[in-house]
Amino acid sequence: MRGYPVGHVPYLRNPSLCCKCEVETGAHARARSCPAFRLCSNGFTVTEPLQLPALHASHAGTWLREGSGQTRGVSKGDAVMAAADTPLLMVNAPLVATRLGYPDLSGLDLLELYAFVRPAKFCVPTAKGLAEAVGLPPPESDADTPAMLQRAAARLMETCRSDDWAEREGAWSTLQSLTRLRWPWAPLLREHVRKPERAEKWLFSRLPEWEEAPERPQPRQIKLSGDEVTAQLDHLTGEGSERREGQRHFASEAASIFAPREKRSAPHLLLAQAGTGIGKTLGYLAPASLWSHAAGGTVWVSTFTKNLQRQLRQESGRAWPARRSDGSRPVVVRKGRENYLCLLNLEDALQGGFAGRPAILAQLVARWAAYSADGDMIGGDLPGWLGTLFRKRGIAALTDQRGECIYAGCPHYRKCFIERSVRSAAQADLVIANHALVMINAARARDAASVPRRIVFDEGHHVFDAADSTFAAALTGRETIELRRWILGPERKNRGRRRGLAARLADVSSYDEAGGAAIEAAIEAARVLPSDGWLERMAEGLPDGPVEALLYQVRAATYARDESGGQEAGYGIETEAAQLPGELVEAAGHSLSALNEIRMPLVKLAGRLEAVMEAAPDWLDAQGRARIEGARHSLAWRIDLLAAWIALLDRLGGPVDERFVDWLMVERNDSREFDTGIQRRWLDPMEPFARTVLDTAHGVMLTSATLADRHEDGPDWEGAIAKSGAAHTDAKPLLVNAESPFDYANRAEVLIVTDIKRGDLAGLAGAYARIIEKSGGGVLGLFTAIRRLRAVHGRIADRLAREGLPLYAQHVDPIDTGTLTDIFRDDPAASLLGTDALRDGVDVPGESLRCVVMEQVPWPRPTILHRARRSAAAASGSTGQAFDDAIIRARLAQAFGRLIRSKDDRGHFIVLSPAFPSRLKSVFPVGTPIIRLTLDEALARLSGAQDGTDASVETDVREDENSGAFET
Ligand code: SF4
Repeated sequence: MRGYPVGHVPYLRNPSLCCKCEVETGAHARARSCPAFRLCSNGFTVTEPLQLPALHASHAGTWLREGSGQTRGVSKGDAVMAAADTPLLMVNAPLVATRLGYPDLSGLDLLELYAFVRPAKFCVPTAKGLAEAVGLPPPESDADTPAMLQRAAARLMETCRSDDWAEREGAWSTLQSLTRLRWPWAPLLREHVRKPERAEKWLFSRLPEWEEAPERPQPRQIKLSGDEVTAQLDHLTGEGSERREGQRHFASEAASIFAPREKRSAPHLLLAQAGTGIGKTLGYLAPASLWSHAAGGTVWVSTFTKNLQRQLRQESGRAWPARRSDGSRPVVVRKGRENYLCLLNLEDALQGGFAGRPAILAQLVARWAAYSADGDMIGGDLPGWLGTLFRKRGIAALTDQRGECIYAGCPHYRKCFIERSVRSAAQADLVIANHALVMINAARARDAASVPRRIVFDEGHHVFDAADSTFAAALTGRETIELRRWILGPERKNRGRRRGLAARLADVSSYDEAGGAAIEAAIEAARVLPSDGWLERMAEGLPDGPVEALLYQVRAATYARDESGGQEAGYGIETEAAQLPGELVEAAGHSLSALNEIRMPLVKLAGRLEAVMEAAPDWLDAQGRARIEGARHSLAWRIDLLAAWIALLDRLGGPVDERFVDWLMVERNDSREFDTGIQRRWLDPMEPFARTVLDTAHGVMLTSATLADRHEDGPDWEGAIAKSGAAHTDAKPLLVNAESPFDYANRAEVLIVTDIKRGDLAGLAGAYARIIEKSGGGVLGLFTAIRRLRAVHGRIADRLAREGLPLYAQHVDPIDTGTLTDIFRDDPAASLLGTDALRDGVDVPGESLRCVVMEQVPWPRPTILHRARRSAAAASGSTGQAFDDAIIRARLAQAFGRLIRSKDDRGHFIVLSPAFPSRLKSVFPVGTPIIRLTLDEALARLSGAQDGTDASVETDVREDENSGAFET
């Protein structure tokens, strides 16, 4: 018999009968002989299922349950008809719609109800996840699911009636608005959400105000001793924990970046290869916490994935309390401002800025905001699935994407999540951020206290790519239209309160004539930038203004030179910015003049703002100063942006600048064009990284399990140093290598499958299906092309679902990547297909991930940027093949790294390609068996792993250099 904690509903297999005593639930409270009765009599009311029809659709079929009847399998057509007749209970309506092939499906989505009842609470958006979140046993089969949905709905309604409902405040008021918006759940909830006796606190009055704090003094100059660091590490790992020598060594070396800097522009630089499982997070948090405490300074830890940020937030709890005695937070997560809810945008949305379904989303976001820890909408406590339920870009419209913030001019300034986060970070001991934000803060922080000076780049193998995007310049339609909106503000009615430059600086223009004239001039000049409808005008050959004319020429040249022969139809195309047509060069000249016309008044305006600040007129109170400071900051950003565009155009048709790679591009997705323009990347982005980050820092550490390539004789430090930026500074990098303690030889196998031919899509799909069946799920499938991923998923998802093996896929399921990973982690029978983002963004220890399958060797895409860097590598003494190999090896190492996340994990890494070059095998940890075999033999090995026997196939262990098994 199942044991249920007090307060749990008995498991109702048949929803009208108790599973323990088979007494009808209505009579249950009277059934004193029932073993579950004691639980019920502890004040718990048995949940009656909600008597509404419920629908569940998977790849295996569709099930419908009438309000109080039986569950039956139905056709997709019947399900769509039933949904059209009456609102059906379902989980994740967009996903159900995809399964039914009927995009307009709507109903009573339980996830929306969950978002209302339990805002800012985690829930995996599946029937199983929902059941767990509301304290019900998960359904045992697809056919059981509709009945569970009825019980889950009833359970959530019951929460609304309960006196203990923690999120009651604000619910009644929100429900009134949702009723006006005809939210399908509103009439059902009305009788459960009681009207408060006194007016309840609404979001904007409920949120706390942030406090101003004096600037932190500069940190003391101290050196940490090895003994102190290891003692702190022991303290953090806890008494009785296993002593790991690799971790102690790593921690002692990590302390070196906190020593006083000896020379200007030469930070202490540590490159640390830290094998999976050495415990590197606590390894660097030990010296970081010691130093921040003793020196009174801030340490920045930068990650590439949100997953690691979450983990760091948890682990930091061992070194710091949640709050200091004064109530402030010693550990703060900082993200780019586009991640946070902008309260002003939300208020606009609530007051009519959003209509229809987006207006309902705004109400649910307001519920969440009132209970959110930090207002982080992307990867914080807002469920990642909430936005996708509404199938629009509503979430993005609620953040400050365009830098339109009006700072102290905003009525919510003192409660603003972004402002609170910036201020908290300036006072924090530990700031958890991402690579791009660290680079941006180093380049243009608001004040000296916000410049990162002691930085740990975890997932350090991504620093190069992050620098590559951060220091790039893109003169494209989307970018230029953003600038136009920032300067001009809304040009149509009903576009909310987003403001242009004139509205943001109205008081300056009325006080300072020259400043006012500069604003006018900038507005006039910005009218030549692309405006709404520019993409249509491109297609019709009717560009408007000099910049659109340039984009038109760029698009024409890109299509004219397209060499893909239609193979890339539907995806982006690009061409070199060389030997350009005269019309394009001429259009570039006109655009350059137009951009200069915008930049000059902005520069003048920046000067006037500085003068106003210095003159400090009477009207300039603290709030006014803060607003002008904010305007100066965002103005400087736009002036730099314009300078970068002007420099880019200046070079078109002229002599090449060897430091940059420029190209023309048209971006498309699913055959729909959405941008066109000119891109510029640094040939070596670590050059600007060194200038902005390393020059200003005192200590920097780059660490990762795959920081350096692995050669037969150890890590390839040369490549890691080249990608650290050290060559562009006086810093002398210190190198550390801590090997993984995992027993790869006995817990992992690499299987190279030789009988799936390249291009054989049917064979590839069949191989995936058979591997997933043999493993019983738990497979992470990695693809290098979205087309192949979709084709494989389309061929096998139904077949697998019928066997109880759900298959999810990035680029197919309407679910964000983080949520897909949560679903995969939550269900050991599930498998997940994806591309780059999953290659090293997935941390799934335990049963849920037992097998990683790569569809082929992950060759780099032959882009213009790749070709330029490959040529540069060849010119500097390396070879093109070595350059490509380094990329492939890094990708293989990252993908393999998904497999074994804890010492108890075991699994298989399968590459479905006979063309696996033998020179790549050293990328796998020493001792890992690497076997070249047919698919049937690989499946036999998977069965062996399942039943504990060892299928016998000849093994080629990495040390066996002469086996010849890896011929290309
Ligand atoms: S201060 Fe800026 S970002 Fe914050 S709520 Fe106001 S407008 Fe939005």
